[in-house]
Amino acid sequence: MDIAVIGSNMVDLISYINKMPKEGETLEAPDFKIGCGGKGANQAVAAAKMGSKVMMVTKVGDDLFADNTIRNLEEYGIDTAFSQKVPGTSSGVAPIFVDQESKNRILIIKGANAHLTPRAIDEAAEQLKKCSLIVLQLEIPLETIYYAIEFGNEYGIPVILNPAPASKELDFDYVCKCDFFVPNESELEILTDMPVETDKQIQAAASMLVEKGVKNVIVTMGSRGVMWVTKERTQSISSHRVNAIDTTGAGDAFIGCFSHVFVKTRDVLQALETATVFAALSVTKRGTQTSYPTVEEVEEFMQ
Ligand code: ADP
Repeated sequence: MDIAVIGSNMVDLISYINKMPKEGETLEAPDFKIGCGGKGANQAVAAAKMGSKVMMVTKVGDDLFADNTIRNLEEYGIDTAFSQKVPGTSSGVAPIFVDQESKNRILIIKGANAHLTPRAIDEAAEQLKKCSLIVLQLEIPLETIYYAIEFGNEYGIPVILNPAPASKELDFDYVCKCDFFVPNESELEILTDMPVETDKQIQAAASMLVEKGVKNVIVTMGSRGVMWVTKERTQSISSHRVNAIDTTGAGDAFIGCFSHVFVKTRDVLQALETATVFAALSVTKRGTQTSYPTVEEVEEFMQ
């Protein structure tokens, strides 16, 4: 096994609406789609699409969404031996309302994701020990994140933490035990209370984290690219110019692809460059997981 993603899965329930109903009102809406998402699952899918052997430690509900979620992960070749159902609980779902101007209103119900406790890591321990990288986000309980970081440290497995969605409660003693900390600009702003308008400000905020003891800070900055900050260096990589149609899940695409290349090469710069291509291609198509490119598309773009 190359990569273990210990994280969330969500079912996107997307209603395309003409108008939001008022209280007590019932309206007809023109279209509806179900999509597989969740930051953990998205990152697992991105790494698997690049060719990594990925296992996912996650929890689904005991509802009709559960089998669909597991099947979706398996279709991408992801090991789901530790993607388990929680009796009496709903799956994580995100009802999304998209209006005619493509504006979103999103609710998130964590459901089974809130039941991903440290016990799940104990249960998967034998397989997790064989992984070369652990990938974490913040859509599961913080105690599980901390436990996973300690697990990685104990067995010498590098850990990537994507602090999304940003939580002020995140304990920086644990962040310092991760090998890579990968926020986007707004997460960096929330977590540092520092401005992130300019590249200089982003560098200052990331450097502050490095001074606190974080080893590698990688800030994704949308169409402006990515900044990698360590004690020794600051390296910026520009985004590729593409016709951006839908940037949902770009950060997850980036992290999944970065994880894949890092495990294969241990070369951070190469991983950043390839992930920048993978994420750029993902924004040229609609959807989240369904917008992620194939290895062939990435290679063709890089030629
Ligand atoms: P998030 O999805 O977490 O908000 P970002 O918006 O920072 O993350 O996007 C992650 C990465 O995706 C960026 O660092 C960049 O490489 C790529 N990306 C995002 N938006 C664009 C865009 N409009 N054009 C090209 N690349 C993009």
